[in-house]
Amino acid sequence: MSRIEINTLRCKGCLLCTSVCPEDILIQGDDLNTNGYKFVICDETKKENCRGCAFCAEICPDGVIEVYKTVKSKKRDS
Ligand code: SF4
Ligand code: SF4
Repeated sequence: MSRIEINTLRCKGCLLCTSVCPEDILIQGDDLNTNGYKFVICDETKKENCRGCAFCAEICPDGVIEVYKTVKSKKRDS
């Protein structure tokens, strides 16, 4: 399963990332960060669907999201 980490302190709540996620994993939370922005969070019911596509990280203007992509290991031929 791929996953993301959100540096919520740096998020500006622009919601660009929510518009590109093919699995609708990113949503705006109700809380404000210390800069006064409503930061994005993962929808707990959907986050295991993360594809590791990194669309969210690529579109974020502030480098808030890190993607950890799960890579399937190849079987070795002997
Ligand atoms: S890596 Fe892709 S699937 Fe995962 S949260 Fe970001 S946009 Fe959505
Ligand atoms: S694109 Fe970046 S700054 Fe904008 S809401 Fe998403 S994580 Fe926050």
